[in-house]
Parts: sequence; structure tokens; C-alpha cells
Amino acid sequence: MRYISTRGQAPALNFEDVLLAGLASDGGLYVPENLPRFTVEEIASWSGLPYHELAFKVMRPFVTGSIPDADFKQILEETYGVFAHNAVAPLRQLNGNEWVLELFHGPTLAFKDFALQLLGRLLDYVLAKRGERVVIIGATSGDTGSAAIEGCRRCDNVDIFILHPHNRVSEVQRRQMTTIFGDNIHNIAIEGNFDDCQEMVKDSFADQGFLKGTRLVAVNSINWARIMAQIVYYFHAALQLGGPARSVAFSVPTGNFGDIFAGYLARNMGLPISQLVVATNRNDILHRFMSGNRYDKDTLHPSLSPSMDIMVSSNFERLLFDLHGRNGAAVGELMSSFKATGKLSVEEERWTEARKLFDSLAVDDEQTCKTIAQVFDTTGELLDPHTAIGVYAARECRRSLSTPMVTLGTAHPVKFPEAVEKAGVGKALELPSHLADLFERPERCTVLANDLKAMQAFVGEHGNRGKPL
Ligand SMILES: *Cc1c(COP(=O)(O)O)cnc(C)c1O
Repeated sequence: MRYISTRGQAPALNFEDVLLAGLASDGGLYVPENLPRFTVEEIASWSGLPYHELAFKVMRPFVTGSIPDADFKQILEETYGVFAHNAVAPLRQLNGNEWVLELFHGPTLAFKDFALQLLGRLLDYVLAKRGERVVIIGATSGDTGSAAIEGCRRCDNVDIFILHPHNRVSEVQRRQMTTIFGDNIHNIAIEGNFDDCQEMVKDSFADQGFLKGTRLVAVNSINWARIMAQIVYYFHAALQLGGPARSVAFSVPTGNFGDIFAGYLARNMGLPISQLVVATNRNDILHRFMSGNRYDKDTLHPSLSPSMDIMVSSNFERLLFDLHGRNGAAVGELMSSFKATGKLSVEEERWTEARKLFDSLAVDDEQTCKTIAQVFDTTGELLDPHTAIGVYAARECRRSLSTPMVTLGTAHPVKFPEAVEKAGVGKALELPSHLADLFERPERCTVLANDLKAMQAFVGEHGNRGKPL
């Protein structure tokens, strides 16, 4: 499989190189040149497969030519074997034809484990074969950092540096990162905010001299492998609910548009999906696009669903590429004008095309808490605030009551106690057994000034399993 850039200028890459790439050299994002397409009969024949075997069927075409089948199968079995629920991604019913797909049974209790557990193993496999080492520098406001560290902790060929804003992530989230020790794991608390951290990562990609020739790899969802891994659970859920003979709708709590873009790809690969609901919090740039063709940058509003607090959605460019007939030059122009003005809209017929599949809703903190309380009262299920946004949006936007509506359950409620408390749900939150002693574990973290050079010097000093690069 070959991958091309959404801006049409960068060279095409194979899977292995796309795995190790960040942004394309023209500033675009990589997407498959040709999406694999499965027939309904083929998809139906996968019914009843264990998760890792289904994952093999769905993802095999994406890695062909880079990873032999037997190796890929083994990697997938290991990856999904670490999940705490035997079904890996169980469905829970809330109401007639209304479901939550629980994606939080991985090591760090958020859906990001599905992709980052795989990414760590793929990186180690490919790097061992090439005899190379890489450095990862990632910024996190919470969930990505812990999932990336868990995904890479056992990698022989990866040193990982995760930057989080000092004193601005929740205690559970911080401890999920800082209590993992290893000479290739480095937590850095930056005396600044999340944007400062993200800016440092971007600047480091732009000028990698401080790495003395070591390659820098991206772990955020601009990395194609993360999107790829997330396609699988749409197939998994649909097969449980009568698909592909019957179509299914999904509601997705959305920030950077990575998770929902995976659903869009699943549909283009042949899975009957009748509707995708973009569920956002107050940071609603995607809702403004879907409802009114206005993708305009706004200021950041901190919310009770912090993993969706974004100003722009990095993966939206991948959708724009398809909406423009995969014309990279057109996307390049749109994105540079967006960079200059902070505003973007597309021609009416392109927007209408997007609206055939996507609906959207922005949900505020008050409604989020009401939904947590309402669902708990009526079903006994405790939702995390991100999932609650998805459930509320699903109810408001669904087009058909006879089509199963699945909300992606993106995190375990114990990660977000503030929202659960505000919802007034009188249920004690308990950490799952593998994290039961999280609050007693020792922590390791380095606090650095909000200064790019200081951070890069730290990476240079420690980037080779704790030793200088
Ligand atoms: C990352 C995250 C999201 C948003 O996912 P995107 O792929 O960025 O749209 C939603 N909920 C939770 C809990 C997350 O960690």
C-alpha cells in the first residue's frame, strides 16, 4: 500500500515510512492512495471472529508489503491481549437500539490505547528490522500521554518524552504517566499551558538538529497508524448488531477528528454506516462547519471534557482532501488561506456532500452533567463526560429509531471525577484493579521552564535510554 499527502506535493511513502513520518514534507497528512474495499459477503464472513483476528482482516491491506502476515497476526494478538475485557470492545445497551461501545478497557482507560498499544509494537518491530532508534516527543493535555507511554514502555528502540502542562492535568492523568518508570521513558512538566507544549513539539519537528541524526516520530493522530487501528472497532460493533446486512449509525465524541474519521473510512471500505454524528463540547469548530459550513478558529474554552478542548482539528484536512476530489493543490490553497485568516468554508455542493453522512451537535458542560445523571438514573451506567456528550448528541441527531445507534465510549469515568461529581451521581468511583494502587505509587517527572532550548537540551542529554544522544 502506498500513502500520499493531502497537499499533493510530498513523495508517496510505503507503510513503514508513513509509520515513521510526522507531517508530510509539504505540510499535509498522509492518507492511503487507494482505500481497500470489502464486499458485504466478505465482511459477513468475519462475524464471530475474536477482536485481534478481525483486526487482521481489516488492517492487512494497509500494511501489505511492509509486514508479513504471520508477524502482523502475532503483533495484533499481543496488542489486544493486554485489554482487561475479553471482548476487548464490549457493547452495552442503554435503551432500545441505543448502545455504548466501551473503548476504555485498555491499560490507560481511554480509547487511545487501541491505537497506541499497536503503534508501540509496530514501531519496535520495524525499527528492530532496520536497526534504527527513534525519539518520540509528544504533547498531552491528558489521555494521549499516558496511552503513548504505556504503548512504548517496552520498546527497545524508542525513547519517549511526553510534555504536559505543569499542574494543569488531573491527578489521575498525571499519575498514569509519572508512575511508569523505564530508562526510555521521560515525563516533562512544562511551566506553561498545553498550547506551549504543542508548540514545542511542532518546532522540534521543524528543526531536528538537536537530535543529532536520530529520527523524530509523531504519536498524535496525524500518524496514519493511529487512524488505521481505530477503523477496526466500527466493524466489530456493526458485526455484533446485525451488520453488514443492516446498517448502523455512530455518534463520536470528537476533538481532533481522528476517531470519527476512522468511521468515515470504515464506511468507504464497504461497511454499511448510515450516519456519523460529530459530538463536540463548547469548542465547536467542527459543529460550526457541519451545521453551517464555517470552519472558523475561535478561542479555547476549558470544559469538563478536556480531551476535546481544541481550537482546530488536525485530521479535518483528511476529510477536506476527499471532499475536493483528492486534489492536493486545492487543499494546500485552502489550508494556507486558513492559516492566514483563521477561516475556511467550502463550495456549497462539497458541503452538501459531507452532510449526507455527518450530523453534529455541540454540548455544553451543563447538558453533559445532566446526561451523566439521567443515564445513571435510568440505566445504572456511569458515563464519562466525553461519552455523555456523544450519547446526548446521538439522541438529538439520530435520523432513524430502527437503526442501531452506537456511541463510542471514549473513556472510563474514573479518569474524570470532576464531571461525575458535578453531575451529582452518588456512586463512588473505583479504579480498576490494575490501577488500584495508583495513588500510592512513586512518581518521576522533570519540571522544565517554558523554553524550547531547555527542553531540547534535556532530550539531547537523555534521548538514548537515559544517556546522551
Ligand atoms: C482523544 C479523546 C477524544 C477525541 O478524539 P479525537 O480523535 O481527537 O476526535 C474524545 N474523548 C476522549 C476521552 C479522548 O481521550
